[in-house]
Amino acid sequence: MEHPHHDDDEAPVEAHAHKKHESHGHPDMDKELSAQMKHPFHTNPEQWLEAHGKDLDACFDCSNEPVTEVEIVCIDERMTMALKTASGKRVLRMAGSGVLFSKALTEDEEIEELADSLAKYVEEIARSSGVDVSAIKLKISSHLTCGAAAKKFGATSANPDESARTFQRKLAAALKKRGINAEFTNDAPMNGNTAHNALATTVDLSRGRLQRTPTTVESVDGMAQPMTLNTFVVSSPSDAKALEDALLSLDIASGSHSYGKKLRQYTFLVLIDPADPKRSWQFVSDLTAGARPFEAKGIKVKIVTREAPGVRNEG
Ligand SMILES: [Zn+2]
Repeated sequence: MEHPHHDDDEAPVEAHAHKKHESHGHPDMDKELSAQMKHPFHTNPEQWLEAHGKDLDACFDCSNEPVTEVEIVCIDERMTMALKTASGKRVLRMAGSGVLFSKALTEDEEIEELADSLAKYVEEIARSSGVDVSAIKLKISSHLTCGAAAKKFGATSANPDESARTFQRKLAAALKKRGINAEFTNDAPMNGNTAHNALATTVDLSRGRLQRTPTTVESVDGMAQPMTLNTFVVSSPSDAKALEDALLSLDIASGSHSYGKKLRQYTFLVLIDPADPKRSWQFVSDLTAGARPFEAKGIKVKIVTREAPGVRNEG
């Protein structure tokens, strides 16, 4: 059923649910919404990309250095990112570092399926880097008040974050059995925001070469100031799973832990893989279809794209 468009003041239906798992959200999401909207990306993403495409390109590892590290982090926009791009590193961003990746019947089977996918990913990178798989360190992190962990374990666990850590420890062990140099690195640092406040999701289809989002100088209320592009970030070894995570991020932004019905617009920034544009455009098409139910609820969903820079062929 469609909601009328004048119900902005209504309290989110689930405002009192999941109290122990996640914050109720910002005391004033109206204020938060207008603060986030000050980033010019949200008013005109095409224009922003034209002005700052190069800043975005600099967030990708374009070196041909052999990959020595793969980091797995949650899609959550509150995860802190590196300030500089490191050579020879990949970052995968999956909901709860992968706790929602598989829909197998048992947790053990889920872990096996995810471990297979990640092992294949690392093996492919090792092959293209010309190194042994053992030369690549795979770091799996958890984080506090993880919404994906709450979604996965909330109904069955008194401590979903700890259940996610247990899952990730088992995942590291399953990867080690496959010859992958995997390690569970515990809770990753966060930016301190209590509520989800992103109005966009960045989807990296280059399979992990994007390491961060750019900080650019923007004119806000007539004053130039540095601003970081605040978005969920999705990057997966599987496009189907990336699609699920991208739609999950919009679900979170329009849910009771974020803006709820106050959310009127949302932007997906899809970074096309130059090595396989056809695959990327299929993703854009699937995302367009997946966003339709949200548009039916009155959210204006915009999808903008930019081709990720290719890997340089140095010396
Ligand atoms: Zn999370």
